Amino acid sequence: MTASSTQPTTARLSINQATTETSSTEELLDACAQAGVGYVAPWRHKFIDGDVRRTRRALDARSIRASSLCRGGFFTGTRPPAEAASDNRRAVEEAAELGSPVLVLVCGPVTETGAAAALEAITRGIEALLPHAIDHDVILAVEPFHPMFAAERSAIIRLDQATDLVTGLDHPNLGIAVDTYHVWWDPDLAQALERASAKTVAVHVADWLVPTQSLLQGRGLPGDGIIDLAGILENIARGGYDGPVEVEVLNGEVWSRQASDVVLDVQQRLMPLLERIGAAV
Ligand code: ZN
Repeated sequence: MTASSTQPTTARLSINQATTETSSTEELLDACAQAGVGYVAPWRHKFIDGDVRRTRRALDARSIRASSLCRGGFFTGTRPPAEAASDNRRAVEEAAELGSPVLVLVCGPVTETGAAAALEAITRGIEALLPHAIDHDVILAVEPFHPMFAAERSAIIRLDQATDLVTGLDHPNLGIAVDTYHVWWDPDLAQALERASAKTVAVHVADWLVPTQSLLQGRGLPGDGIIDLAGILENIARGGYDGPVEVEVLNGEVWSRQASDVVLDVQQRLMPLLERIGAAV
């Protein structure tokens, strides 16, 4: 592998840190620097020594940028409201300190009060957080989740719901994170991607393995599953998105490998897909 960050085909690749969950942050950053991958998407619990500034310095030292920060959200009452609000404000500040343009929101599950109440709480929570995001020049990205996560992660289970919410609040500091793993099953996906296109600020890629062995850690590396990744990415590109493409694969088997091995593997798998996107824009 002789890829370098100057190659247009890999310049947009980002490794979401969930793909190398059990490796250290330094291991991931070194692997990306070595492979010429210019972006990572850090997770807050993986900050070096719990310190966002130290993490920023480690990124800068390797000329790696943060494509997004994971994550804020959980607006639906699964934690005390004051704690949720202050943690989300802190997440916005950390995104800014990290130089990350985007903070990904996992919006919180449907609870005993039902889906409509959860959606209302999410809308109110985002409305309350938005001024802080504007102050810090951070874009909040609502990520719709696959419906199987409705009780644990997010009441936003279709891309159209995210688009309705984001267009309803309508602000440049509020957008959508489209993750192939969460949206691929939607029979109206092409239209949904088009509706979301003006608000799409982040793209995540993972494949759907058959059979799925684990709810949370059963995602596949691109090419190992049944999702038409090229088709989805071409649709997103036609809609005008030209930012980083994050590979986000939560998978125990992938986690058992060295970060350097995973990064090179991901790079090889994404190269043909990114070439196709380049051709589509
Ligand atoms: Zn994602």
